[in-house]
Amino acid sequence: ESDAVIDVRMGVLGSRGVLLLADDLSRAVRVEETRRDFVANVSHELKTPVGAITLLAETMQDAAEDPDAVRRFADRMQTESRRLSHLVQEIIELSRVQGASALPDAEPVEIDDVVAEAVALNRNFALGSRVEVQVGGATGLHVFGSEAMLTTALSNLISNAISYSDPETRVGVSVRREEGFVELAVKDEGIGISKENLERVFERFFRVDRARSRETGGSGLGLAIVKHIATDHGGEVSAWSLEGQGSTFTLRIPEMGRTDAITVRGSDAP
Ligand code: ADP
Repeated sequence: ESDAVIDVRMGVLGSRGVLLLADDLSRAVRVEETRRDFVANVSHELKTPVGAITLLAETMQDAAEDPDAVRRFADRMQTESRRLSHLVQEIIELSRVQGASALPDAEPVEIDDVVAEAVALNRNFALGSRVEVQVGGATGLHVFGSEAMLTTALSNLISNAISYSDPETRVGVSVRREEGFVELAVKDEGIGISKENLERVFERFFRVDRARSRETGGSGLGLAIVKHIATDHGGEVSAWSLEGQGSTFTLRIPEMGRTDAITVRGSDAP
């Protein structure tokens, strides 16, 4: 069918247009394939916890006479439903950031606020995991964008850093200014990621170790969400890692210049 489309358009535009159209078409096919993969992945990922909950409920009915067993099954059902709810939340978040109009409510954002909120969101998780989160670096920097989304992005990186670290280790969150960008780096002393896996961590549903990721309740969507948020802000996210030594994820967002800050204040503008 796509061959036919190329033929028809070739007739109209002549041979010069063909390359471009063929390229557009293959891109359209790729987008469609990605969408189909995504739906297949989502279905698979949702079916697993739903199946587990169904099975646990059935088993619980059979064990109704044994209160200890009932409690055990109820606990596991709770774990599975929490996981399911986390996954659904991340799927919604991802479709939101993948949506057409990027950053509808963009405004000047104070990076200090983003850092404080993202760290606060992970405070209990860090305490429970006995990982110390340390914040440092430049203060008073601004970017233009969505505070909520940037907080989500940084929070995802911090939460990963904690998830893949051992107790009594540190996670460092640092801010710096670098050639027109604000760089937010999250460094851990955790398990690290091998070179071949590092290239894939930003893919949707990619998890290095499914078993460990299941334990941590990971969905494999966190970094895909971070990548989208970075791109929507005209920035990028990168990863550096050494297996067994730790990882550093860096979010780079264009810095909002002083002049912009004054213009936005309106009445202060000359
Ligand atoms: P998940 O919800 O599974 O953490 P992510 O998209 O956030 O999904 O991350 C994808 C995978 O990348 C994780 O499953 C994990 O294997 C790996 N990963 C992410 N962050 C780190 C980190 N700081 N240290 C080690 N591995 C990591």
